[in-house]
Amino acid sequence: MELRALKGTKDIFGDEMRKWLEVEEIIRNLCDDFCFNQIRTPMFEFTKLFARGVGDTTDIVNKEMYSFVDKGENEITLKPESTAAVVRAFLEHNMYADTQPTKLYYISPTFRYERPQAGRQRQFHQFGVEMFGSDSPTADAEVISIGYTLLKRLGIKKVELHINSLGGPECRKKYNETLKAFLGEKRENLCPLCQERMEKNPLRVLDCKNPECQKHLQDAPTVLDTLGEECMAHFNQLQELLKAMDIPFVVDPSIVRGLDYYTKTVFEFVSNDIGAQGTVCGGGRYDRLVDEIGGKHVPAVGFGAGMERLIIVRDAENNAPLALATKDIFIGYRGDAAMVEAIKLVNNLRQVGISAETDHLQRSIKAQMKYANKINARYSMIIGESELEERSVRLKEMESGDEVTIPMDQFVQAFKNIVQG
Ligand code: ATP
Ligand code: MG
Repeated sequence: MELRALKGTKDIFGDEMRKWLEVEEIIRNLCDDFCFNQIRTPMFEFTKLFARGVGDTTDIVNKEMYSFVDKGENEITLKPESTAAVVRAFLEHNMYADTQPTKLYYISPTFRYERPQAGRQRQFHQFGVEMFGSDSPTADAEVISIGYTLLKRLGIKKVELHINSLGGPECRKKYNETLKAFLGEKRENLCPLCQERMEKNPLRVLDCKNPECQKHLQDAPTVLDTLGEECMAHFNQLQELLKAMDIPFVVDPSIVRGLDYYTKTVFEFVSNDIGAQGTVCGGGRYDRLVDEIGGKHVPAVGFGAGMERLIIVRDAENNAPLALATKDIFIGYRGDAAMVEAIKLVNNLRQVGISAETDHLQRSIKAQMKYANKINARYSMIIGESELEERSVRLKEMESGDEVTIPMDQFVQAFKNIVQG
């Protein structure tokens, strides 16, 4: 076949689709329990939203965005993450004027031009949460707890929570100086991109994926060494809350995250099951992003989790087979008059919430019964001339083979009683 899906994109269907629906259902219930409401933002935004929001020294903005100019000469980008878009919506609809906090979640396609590999695609999907309007560590703890609870409900155990604090603007300024001094001494050993970033945004250097660079960054000074009193207290309180909620964590000063907007708390849930693509969920606090995008000071905290990676890790750890997809009933027929009756009956059953299927391919009776098996129908029946004449049908339970006779004109109610109790 000449036309194929683009590299780094995937069709989701069949059993895989059922897995996704199951995970999405778990997510919707989870967010309900934590009192988060769903938001859907458009698939594309003005490019400058991401350049400003995500940061123009990040990998995402530098190398990974799907950007284009549309027919109206607008510079547009397919969203490479959703936080900036949600912040835009939060501001545009004056959500900050409402009672706070504002607690939102999304499940969204996300686009990054990357080298595709297991757990890394060009169109992937993120589940994320954003909580606006609170600078309290209780908000950070709640957001982390959503991630932790999700993993628990998915049956994922081999994941570690790593937390760190990047401090506020004051601590960061101090840290940037210390870090610049350190990096200055390693200059020759670092890649050209690191050398360039060193001046503009030294923290980005720590996030470099080049193993050669990482070797020389091992004993870089950490932000934790330069945290001011307030940020330290915030970080300590967060740890206390996590302990109170029985959420195990490790403090890991190497977590800096690949986006520019983080302040104070950053965290990642990391799995050992999927190699290099081990981060299933990452997030943190972003007290300055709303200001940067829309000139309002609103503190916020959130995370993004990769749906594909969640599903890969879940499959690796917890391979209980999916429950069989069943249908309540298959109604077959012989002859044109019976066909009309079957179509009517199937349609009436569907109106009352019963999953019913019939034949659309003029199959023989034998082939219709085979089809009923194939779709895992729990019950089946065939309407033929004698059934029409007697106005009654023989309903067969597929597994046991047991049959009962039911008057055709009371069939919908009778069958409803059988399957719905
Ligand atoms: P990585 O270091 O793996 O590139 P990242 O730091 O770029 O991840 P974030 O921007 O924090 O990732 O996005 C949040 C989550 O989205 C990641 O933890 C991961 O689970 C998922 N994710 C990121 N990029 C991809 C991708 N290209 N394909 C599939 N999932 C992805
Ligand atoms: Mg990345």
